[in-house]
Amino acid sequence: MPDKPRVRFAPSPTGYLHIGGARTALYNWLYARHTGGTFILRIEDTDRERHTPEAVQAIIDGMKWLGMDWDEGPIHQSDRLARYQEVAAELEKKGLAYKTTKGAEDKGEALAFRVAAAKEKVAFDDQVLGKVEFQDEVIEDFILMRSNGWPTYNFSCVIDDHDMAITDVIRGLDHVSNTPRQIMIYKAMGWTSPRFAHIPMITNSEGKKYSKRDGAVAVGDYANAGYLPEAFANYTALLGWSPGGDVEIMSRQEMVEKFTVDRVRKTASQFDFQKLEWMNGKYIEGLPAAELAERMAPFFKSAGLDPDARGREWLEKLGQLLKERAHTLVQFPKLTRYFFADDYEVVPQAAELLAKDTTPAALKAALAALEKLPEADWTPAKLDPLLREAAKAAGMGFGKLAQPVRAAVTGTNVSPGLFEVLELLGREVTLARIRRAPGVG
Ligand code: GLU
Repeated sequence: MPDKPRVRFAPSPTGYLHIGGARTALYNWLYARHTGGTFILRIEDTDRERHTPEAVQAIIDGMKWLGMDWDEGPIHQSDRLARYQEVAAELEKKGLAYKTTKGAEDKGEALAFRVAAAKEKVAFDDQVLGKVEFQDEVIEDFILMRSNGWPTYNFSCVIDDHDMAITDVIRGLDHVSNTPRQIMIYKAMGWTSPRFAHIPMITNSEGKKYSKRDGAVAVGDYANAGYLPEAFANYTALLGWSPGGDVEIMSRQEMVEKFTVDRVRKTASQFDFQKLEWMNGKYIEGLPAAELAERMAPFFKSAGLDPDARGREWLEKLGQLLKERAHTLVQFPKLTRYFFADDYEVVPQAAELLAKDTTPAALKAALAALEKLPEADWTPAKLDPLLREAAKAAGMGFGKLAQPVRAAVTGTNVSPGLFEVLELLGREVTLARIRRAPGVG
């Protein structure tokens, strides 16, 4: 065996990169980077009807989004048919495989592995599960080459793992029942098996396998929903692994430093949207202002708003003002429409407040004060004392003046700090909105 680990992610390109696949890829990648080993991307595309080039691209895009790179590949199994045929012929020659028409719909000949020839009980030490034992008598002869001429997963997987000198196979628990068959093939060929590590399932809140019915499964959907790749990778890595202690938020570099297979849990991990969202929020809060603006911008565009309508510096301030409230990037345009357009929604609490008969007086008092403040002084430092003074002069508490102003200019009863909001709205928009409030203009 090579002295440095060689691992692979071997997706079957049938659709998109899903959460489980992303986690498997990530564990292999983290392991390779932690050990200074080699990470290989192998596309298992021998099921010619179910596989598409678009799916390969979606997997590659998802991996890149999550910050993974690979040292070898992508290697396509469909390019290696001659090699599979060669090993098939060798096993047949040794009498360990035989031609059969059993089970073939097209009545063509398939090649089956003769299980009876591998007499010993197949057991292996799994790096995660510990000792795994299967009775060989329950495993029947199985197909290596289909009647359509293409290899089965178990066959091509073993040949490739051997030829690519894979030292550790890290994959989902759903494959553990394939492992004894694969070990039989290694033995039949006189090859050494790699080490195996089967990682536990990802479950929903009921403890069942997490599926489409429970929420988004495609990594791309999380990208579109405004999750940061570094947050998604961090969360996904923790679905079944922890570095110990209560460390949760970890940079990619920290994960690389801390990742070991022996800290992968044996038991299933529950996918917890709330936790993912919380973590994403933490990552958003931690981004430098310019970086957050850069990440938010495309989400404004998708919502039909021009992020740079008032310049980048303004957008950066907006990001800073909202970052503790927005847990995903899509929430930024949703929470800030009133900064960009006049067609924002007025929530019932704000509408109620605006309809109150005491409101026009409060708004007029605010308006009179604000009208005197020139554009150049339109800053929180000046707006704050000005409005407090105005409330005092009108004989009302500050809240009695501020809440109607907030409702009039944002359509909400909750917003970030009023002075910062007024600053970013600008003098003109603020005055216009107060003037057009019921009973004011
Ligand atoms: N193509 C298989 C899958 O996508 C690979 C399993 C393995 O890693 O051996 O599930």
